[in-house]
Amino acid sequence: MPIVKNFFIGLSNNPFLNKTAKEIGPMFGAKKVVAGNTITDLVDTIERLNNKGITVTVDCLGEFVLNEGEAIQAKDQILEVMYAIYNHSLDGHMSIKLSQLGSEFDIDLAYRNLREILLKANEFGNMHINIDTEKYDSLFDITQVLDRLKGEFKNVGTVIQAYLYKADALIDKYPELRLRMVKGAYKENENIAYQTKEDIDENYIRLIKKRLLNANNVTSIATHDDKIITHIKQFIKDNNIEKDKYEFQMLYGFRSDLAGLLAREGNHFCIYVPYGDDWFSYFMRRLAERPQNLNLMFLELMKPEILKKTGFVASLLTAIGVSSALIYKVLKK
Ligand SMILES: Cc1cc2nc3c(=O)[nH]c(=O)nc-3n(C[C@H](O)[C@H](O)[C@H](O)COP(=O)(O)OP(=O)(O)OC[C@H]3O[C@@H](n4cnc5c(N)ncnc54)[C@H](O)[C@@H]3O)c2cc1C
Repeated sequence: MPIVKNFFIGLSNNPFLNKTAKEIGPMFGAKKVVAGNTITDLVDTIERLNNKGITVTVDCLGEFVLNEGEAIQAKDQILEVMYAIYNHSLDGHMSIKLSQLGSEFDIDLAYRNLREILLKANEFGNMHINIDTEKYDSLFDITQVLDRLKGEFKNVGTVIQAYLYKADALIDKYPELRLRMVKGAYKENENIAYQTKEDIDENYIRLIKKRLLNANNVTSIATHDDKIITHIKQFIKDNNIEKDKYEFQMLYGFRSDLAGLLAREGNHFCIYVPYGDDWFSYFMRRLAERPQNLNLMFLELMKPEILKKTGFVASLLTAIGVSSALIYKVLKK
């Protein structure tokens, strides 16, 4: 349903709604997919997952960074989380967005912030630092920064979005880096990205296989798609791919049944844990990916069976509800 997807992507990009939502705090079910906004909450969550044999990658939420002060603040928050992981001997690493570190207005500032993070990561037991990929406009910045840092640091990697025509070339470019493979979460046009689910899924599977056969570092297979996971598990078995060459990843709060099973089967398994106040944009992208994720909201608002019955209309009404409720809260203040 492209109309629903476009609607939520539109909301996710709205700085006013993001700012407002940050002030109000997580609502509409967002708490189920964000691991709190205090270090104590975060440490508890990571400990709980580690006890089940699951490692984590933490995303300090926040994308609309507009000035140097905010970029430094974001970098300091990341360092604080890294310190907590190290200090509590937790099994985890970081996922970072360059836009958080200032890349949208000063790429050199973002580079310096990331370098400081990587230097600290070396002190913290060579903690891995992943650069998340964002909208296509920022891809050049990411590869530029990565190319400057990958000679100096071994613990930096990034994400390949399989919907991009360029994804294939990026896999060839970075065989020595740890890479996360995803389908892609943003809305891109047909000049740069596959548009249909069939084309994206086909490319995703093809690229994961290519990467598993040729890479010299870990490949993180990040999807909730059970059909693709089953297919790739068979491929791994048929090709005797070593366990240390791959891991599965999922987002916090989604498909814990499947996550638990993959971990119990002895696969390396990592959960992406979003943390902090800046929940809105992240949550809206999850709703854009899968309108059924509206269940998360409906569980708070009404019984999920009603969503099943009302389907598309309910999805749209809830979407409108989200934005109206936020605006209402602001006006009421
Ligand atoms: C760990 C992680 C990190 C990511 N990092 C990035 C990034 O840096 N940049 C980026 O652009 N994107 C990122 N993404 C998002 C990614 O690009 C996709 O948008 C997102 O994962 C949705 O696609 P999917 O592969 O899970 O499957 P989808 O195509 O959304 O779903 C496929 C099928 O899987 C099943 N399914 C999916 N979700 C559920 C569920 N909750 N419950 C039951 N069944 C379900 C359904 O059968 C569905 O039809 C990340 C995703 C993960 C998991």
